[in-house]
Amino acid sequence: MSNEAARRILLVEDEKTIRDAVTAYLERENYWVTAVGDGQDALDEFNKHNFDLIILDLMLPRVPGERVCREIRTTSDVPIIMLTAKGEVEDRIIGLELGADDYLVKPFSPRELVARTRALLRRAHAGNEPSREVLEFGELTIDVTGHKVMVDGKDVDLTASEFKLLTTLSRFPGRVYSRMELVEKVLGYDFEGYERTIDSHVKNLRAKIGDNPRSPKWLHTVHGVGYRFEDPTKN
Ligand code: CA
Repeated sequence: MSNEAARRILLVEDEKTIRDAVTAYLERENYWVTAVGDGQDALDEFNKHNFDLIILDLMLPRVPGERVCREIRTTSDVPIIMLTAKGEVEDRIIGLELGADDYLVKPFSPRELVARTRALLRRAHAGNEPSREVLEFGELTIDVTGHKVMVDGKDVDLTASEFKLLTTLSRFPGRVYSRMELVEKVLGYDFEGYERTIDSHVKNLRAKIGDNPRSPKWLHTVHGVGYRFEDPTKN
């Protein structure tokens, strides 16, 4: 058995004929496939098991693929291949805003999907040419892959927690995060007393990237709730 034989794939597709065909092709390649037909089942499976790769249809019953992808991305870098119908969504949105690694437009050949799957798994596991994620918001540049932050082209030295906090918030501009959520995502524990530590991380982060809390460019306080990141070039 090759290394890839034990790889687990979560396939999320509501069209049974596609689901069955893709499952058959993947199993023939010795992948271990869990196939589900809607977005909620996908999230349930994702929360229960570890997968090496996710193949995710965009238009799904119950929870749309877009939301499934965003949810997964809040906690995981697992490779995701998105399946879309022609003209359903712009490429740019799939890659940058949803955080998918690759996508295929329907109708696609299962053979092509298997080839993409293999390529993505090889990339994810070998660590060569990882897909590079760089976010830009005006003068603020966040090189997520390279763990680097720059303001006006100058490197900013952040702690691991500050970096995690900044990437968590900036991946989804406009989304409000409660302190509790940020504690869980950034610090990885969930004791209420630690919510205030988020405030000090935000304070330090603001000082380092030069964001004035009185008239913030990027990091906005949402009173009584938490924080939200804004892209100043979009308003
Ligand atoms: Ca569909």
